Formats: sequence, structure tokens, C-alpha cells
Amino acid sequence: MNRRSFIKFSALTGTSATLASCGNPEYHLIRFIPEDRLVAGIAVWKPSICPLCSAGCGLTVRVMEGDAEVIRDGKLGVTKMGLAKKLEGDPQNPINQGKLCTRGQAAMEVTYHPDRLGHPLKRAGSRGDGKFEEITWDQAMAELTGKLDALAAAGNQKSLAILTRPQRGARGAVLAEFANRFGAAAPLAFEFFGNDVIRRANEMSFGKAQLPTLDLAESQFVISFGADFLGTWNSPVAQNVGYGQMRQGRPGMRGKFVQVEYRMSQSGANADEWVPVKPGTEGVLALGIANAIMKQGTRKASDAGHAGTLVDGWMTGLADHTPQEVEKKTGVTAARIERLAKEFSGQKPAVAIIAGAAVAQTNGLFNALAVNALNALVGSVETAGGIYFTPQPANLGTGTNFAKNGEIGAGAQVLFVDGANPVFASPKAWKVKEAISAVPYIVSFGNFIDETSVMADLILPDHSFLESWVQSAPESGAKTAVSMMAPPVMRPLHDTRATGDVLLEVSKKLAKPLNMPWQKFEDAVKEQPGGNAGRSPLPKPAPAQAAKYAEPQFDGDAGQYGFHFLPYPSIAFLDGSLAHLPLLQELPDPMSSAIWSSWVEINMQTADKMGIRQGDLVEITSSQGSIRVPAFPSPGIAPDVIAMPVGQGHENYTRYASGRGANPIEILAPVKEPETGSLAWAATRVKIAKAADADGRLVLFAGSLRDYPPEGMHR
Ligand code: SF4
Repeated sequence: MNRRSFIKFSALTGTSATLASCGNPEYHLIRFIPEDRLVAGIAVWKPSICPLCSAGCGLTVRVMEGDAEVIRDGKLGVTKMGLAKKLEGDPQNPINQGKLCTRGQAAMEVTYHPDRLGHPLKRAGSRGDGKFEEITWDQAMAELTGKLDALAAAGNQKSLAILTRPQRGARGAVLAEFANRFGAAAPLAFEFFGNDVIRRANEMSFGKAQLPTLDLAESQFVISFGADFLGTWNSPVAQNVGYGQMRQGRPGMRGKFVQVEYRMSQSGANADEWVPVKPGTEGVLALGIANAIMKQGTRKASDAGHAGTLVDGWMTGLADHTPQEVEKKTGVTAARIERLAKEFSGQKPAVAIIAGAAVAQTNGLFNALAVNALNALVGSVETAGGIYFTPQPANLGTGTNFAKNGEIGAGAQVLFVDGANPVFASPKAWKVKEAISAVPYIVSFGNFIDETSVMADLILPDHSFLESWVQSAPESGAKTAVSMMAPPVMRPLHDTRATGDVLLEVSKKLAKPLNMPWQKFEDAVKEQPGGNAGRSPLPKPAPAQAAKYAEPQFDGDAGQYGFHFLPYPSIAFLDGSLAHLPLLQELPDPMSSAIWSSWVEINMQTADKMGIRQGDLVEITSSQGSIRVPAFPSPGIAPDVIAMPVGQGHENYTRYASGRGANPIEILAPVKEPETGSLAWAATRVKIAKAADADGRLVLFAGSLRDYPPEGMHR
């Protein structure tokens, strides 16, 4: 497949009104000359891409003429212009097929947010105290080029560090090329709920360091080990569309869905069967199922091919993982394991998925390799109803060079921060705030103040996605390669600039220009992605030693810290980066119905024994510190586990998120999955104690699960 055969979404014309100021005094609204391409009252639909997660869903944006307060040439005024009014899923997009998740619907608020930064800012107080002064773009560019020229003059280009969220596409390509031509290290990508373990396992098993695309629409049986694929993981809209097809889209045929996890997620709540397991034993359960399938004689060990050879004992039938042995480790009965094995091998096609807490353990890679081998055993790799690997273009931006332990580059003198907020989303033990504080000069390209950008010396606010060229080449979500691009759907409201254009302009203004391959960010967008992205057979994976099951290790002695602590991605806020959007603060959590608050889920019977009622403030303590949150007793959680959504607990993130709730990431221990170095974010033990009676800070939309206790849900 060449570039032309990519599916492209692009190019409705952008708006192009000429705006001029009328010279009115500062702070007085001025009426600018209106743009002339819109007819009042007639909606125009323009394409764009949802930027709120890496799924890259396609949008159509309803644009209508309206009066907007805008900043032009440093002056505030009013103009008639095309304004985005509503986001919808693009029906032609093969990822989201006309649908959007609630987060996508809320993406509009990014553009019209009252706390969005509208001008370049320069630090005016002590680092981190939030005092900034407005400066012009000319001043900002002069300051930034001066800092970079000074590094180059000292032969110290390597001390430029770039920290970004994972960027697939043109923005990442511009950042990476800038770093390369300047002589700095490649940008480091940071995300809290990263998928490095899954990518590494897929590389080892199938030769593809990539997240899979789930062909749920064709599946008959789905078993998910910890993956909240209907809520937050990977490409949730694409996966919901496929799931809907599996359950209700084929007359007379309804696929079965089993969810294995120890805290009921949104996906778990949809399952036919919810199977609670002991934390970190998901891979053992997969091997128990594989053992039973082999014994039942429907498949033999060699059917799993290379993926099977990566699991110790596989080729001899997993003698150590009989259902009886596995029952002892997982808490799932042998009879249930045997039944699941029969269903998994008998209902074709069947697929196993793994993600979430199952891979966020010290033995996470083993768990993923075990589930990969199970898929290979039943022939569910690159076949209908199984998993596929979406063909990938050659140039993907920042790639998989992930910041471990919140690293920012040794000896950094100048730090660029683009879209990442590691000060919020890192365990305190990593001391990221301290490391960033030690960098002499920090530049942020964010358009909101958050816990990381508040430490910047210079803030160069980006356009919103609706005001920019956008581009995406999703890692998964469709069986064919997908490349999307779209022009701005509206003119900028504020005195902001697209980060790609800022970097390209800086590259030209340096004493030694970098000769970047693009004049404008638009050129980079139109060039991406390149290379051959056609479907081809899976490459041969590198030989590797078989992995042996090791018990998961947890921080904190079980005698002192009696509970496993599970921080999970919030349906509304994911890793906390969306907590500034009021529509998402207002969104009732699908499991608890809580809004505008934090809570900790605790098993109902455990809570009863401890005298903890709904809304009571409890203190959660790990070896790293304590936080206080209201309790939410739930039947959908194991008795020795407590769970908290990530997302609240911001110190500094707009009027809507600041000072609200608690951040569970703070108290995580710095435990790693050893092969990839990823944070094992489900490997911390805690203790809890009631801190006070109900304090009213738990805001629920719809009453209490205590009103309807289901029978027999407890492990
Ligand atoms: S899954 Fe939701 S948040 Fe992510 S890109 Fe799609 S619509 Fe946006």
C-alpha cells in the first residue's frame, strides 16, 4: 500500500477573514471586520480529530456564524466568525464509525475554557508560585532563541531536553526533528497509564511492538484479563462499536463476554461473567485455561507456535498449571477454569485480551505473554474475531522512548514540556518535581496552567485542536492503516500559536538555523505519514528465553498493609489530564455515580466489619504517604482490595479541578516491571483507617449501591 491508498480525511477549506483592529483603548471591546464565508444561521460541518486520547477518533464539527470575543494584534475585540458549536463522530472514519465517547463530546470545552491561556507568559515570581506576566510573541521568540543560541555557543546542545506525551504524527515528528537537528537527545514521552508491557510482550510473541486491534465484531467469545476495553483502554469507541456488533448485531448469534479482574470496571459491569482473581495471577489463570484446553485434546501445545515457546513448561503441556494448582494461586475454582477452557476453545472465534492492572504488576510481562500464548493456541492472531495489528506508517513521531522514573534527561539546562504533566502523574517517590525544579530554564507549550507548566519560565500557548491543523495515524482500532488530517475548523480566539509553527519559526531564527524540512506545521501535517503501511505477514520475532511464573511482588508488608491498592483510569479524566473540563467533572461515574469528587471503593462486607459507611472519610496509607478520601462500599471489588479513580487531586489545574479530591498516584511505591522498567502501578499495598464520619464531600448522582446488594458477588 502506498500513501495514496491510506484513508484520508481532509481539506475542507479553513476560514480566512482579514481582521484589523480599530485602535480602541485596552480592555475595550473592538468590533473587527467579520469573516465573509459563513451565512448566518446555516451550519457548516468540518472534519477534525479528537485529541483527548490516543485512539484518534474522527470528528465532524458543526460550525456556525457567531459573535466571538477574540484577540488580534494584542487587542481584545468582537468579530463575527465561524464558531465550533458541536462535535460528532465522523461516520466515514473506520476507527469510531460515527460514534464518540463522552470525553470526545466534552472536547469542545478545551477551546472555550475560561481559564485557557491566551498569550505568551513569562515567569514573574518564584518558580512554581504561578505569577506570570504577559509578553508579546516577538519577546517570547527572542527569549527562547537566545537561550538555545547560548546552549549551542557553549557546545552544550545535548542539555536541551524535551518531555512530551506520546505523539504519533506530525507534532511528534516536528519535535523529534527539532531535537535531532539541534543536537539534543530524542524527546522523552511520558504517560502514566502506559502500554509498554503490552507492546513488549507483543513484540516478543508476534514480532509487533504494538497495541492490538480487537476484531470483536466477528468474535463469539471474549475473555478479558483486566482490560477495560469498553471504558478507558486503547481505542474505546472502536471497541464499543465492535462489541455492540458482537452482542446484538448478528441475528440469532450473541457472543459471550467474560471479564477477569479484581475490581469491577465498566467493561466488567457489561460482562456475562465476572471472575475475580488475586492480583497478579491473571497470567496463571490464562495458563490454567490453556492446560485444560490441551488436556481436553482440542489443541496441542505446538499450535501456539513461537508465542507458546515463550512460556516455561508450555511445550510439555503446562504440567505445573493444572486447574487444581491454578485454583490455589488465583482463587478461581478448577471447575470454573475447565468450563471456561471448554467455552474458549469451543466457541470460535474466541479472543483473549490483557491490559490494565493485569500488566501493572512486577510479573506483568509474564501475564501478557501467557495471554498471548492462549490466543495463539486457539488461532486468534491476525484472524477474523481475534486480534490484528494495524499496519503502521514509517514515521510515527516520538515513538516508544518513554520516560522511566520521570526522567527528564541528565544535566538538562533547557527543558521543553509538551502535553505531559509528570509532576501530577508520578509517584512522589520519583521526585519529578524536584528534578524539574533543578532545570534552569523551562518552556511549556501547554494552553492551561497545570502542576508542571506552573514551574515554567516561559509559556507559549498552543492553539486548540479546533484552531490547528491536526493529524493522526492511530496505532490500533481498525484492520486497515488509517491516516487522518484536517485543517483548522475555526480561527484562533486568542493570541496563541500552533506549537509546530513555533518550533519551525525558532529553528529559522537560531544563530545556526536548523534547516528543518518543513516551512510551516501544515507542511509537516500534509507529509505525514510516510512509508509503506500495507498489510504483510507478521515478522519473525527474535528468539527469547521462556519466561517462568514468578509470584507478584508488592510494596508493603501484608501484615502491616492489609489491602492491595488499585488506582484505575477514570472514565471521565483518564490519567487526570481531562479533569479541567467541567462537563467531565459533571459526568456521573458509571459505577458509583459520583461527580466532582474522589472516592475509594471498598468491599461492602469489609466495610461493614470496619464500621465504614458510605461517605465516611478514610485515610489510606502506603509506605510512601497518606491521602484522605470518602469511602464508597461496593459489591464489585475483592475483600482485600481498595480502588480509587485517578484524575482528581490537582493542586493547580484551572478553577474546575484545583483543590478537588485526592491523587492516588502520590502514594504509589516506585515498584517496576523489571523487563520494561514500567511503573507497576498496581503493586502497592496500603492500610486504611476511618478518619471521620460522613463529611458530605462524596457527591453522588444516584444514591447508593448499598440499597441493592446483589447476592454472591464476593470472592
Ligand atoms: S476514545 Fe473518546 S477521548 Fe479517545 S479519541 Fe475517541 S472520542 Fe476522543
